[in-house]
Amino acid sequence: MNIIFLGPPGAGKGTQAQKICAALNIPQISTGDILRRAMKDGTETGLKAKSYIEAGKLVPDEVIIDIVKERLAMDDCRNGYILDGFPRTVPQAEALDTIAKIDHVIELAVDDQVLVERLSGRRVCVKCGATYHLSMLGGKTNCAVCGEELIQRKDDSAETVLARLEVYHAQTAPLIGYYEKKGLLQRIDGAQGMDNTYAAILNALGVQA
Ligand code: ADP
Ligand code: ADP
Ligand code: ZN
Repeated sequence: MNIIFLGPPGAGKGTQAQKICAALNIPQISTGDILRRAMKDGTETGLKAKSYIEAGKLVPDEVIIDIVKERLAMDDCRNGYILDGFPRTVPQAEALDTIAKIDHVIELAVDDQVLVERLSGRRVCVKCGATYHLSMLGGKTNCAVCGEELIQRKDDSAETVLARLEVYHAQTAPLIGYYEKKGLLQRIDGAQGMDNTYAAILNALGVQA
């Protein structure tokens, strides 16, 4: 099953993709995680992406499309995958149409005020991609999965968050209509608790955990 998770920053795409991927035994392809790892490793792609990411802007389409093409060609994608954070523009969606057949587009809908609160408390593990919220860490500062020290993303600062929400509404939200027209879109209330959201996504995909 080839699945897209669509939604604003903080909607819960990464949190849910990690759980659904584990349940379905398919890879989670997070373009944000790929870019952050590239930045950490100081690769050419990482250097190119850094200024865009830190300003809350989108990395140019051609850079991100090449990354996704390469990733989807890998063996582990043969039985399906979840795209988490891609596509984010109409040109990205059109490029994806030429290389993949998408089965489901899951839109996680959450109001902006809730997103600001979620993003300001987000802590992430750059090593394994796990995501946490301050409110659930109880003072812990390391990743429960791999032990790495958790960080606050630079682009989760208050001013950058507002820029990213604007970018979402202007450049990514048009994809809702794009996939609605293709009959692929399923909208889910992402403001529910994590377990209810998880159950709603499984239901939309027509699978049992
Ligand atoms: P979030 O999980 O908060 O929605 P991501 O981790 O997906 O954010 O992305 C972080 C940043 O990485 C984005 O703000 C953008 O700069 C860059 N990025 C990630 N995916 C894409 C993409 N598909 N197109 C362009 N830029 C991207
Ligand atoms: P995205 O990948 O869409 O940017 P994340 O999965 O990183 O979103 O979640 C953003 C923040 O909100 C994280 O701190 C996460 O722990 C928290 N979060 C995710 N889902 C929920 C939920 N259903 N209810 C409350 N907080 C959530
Ligand atoms: Zn980790």
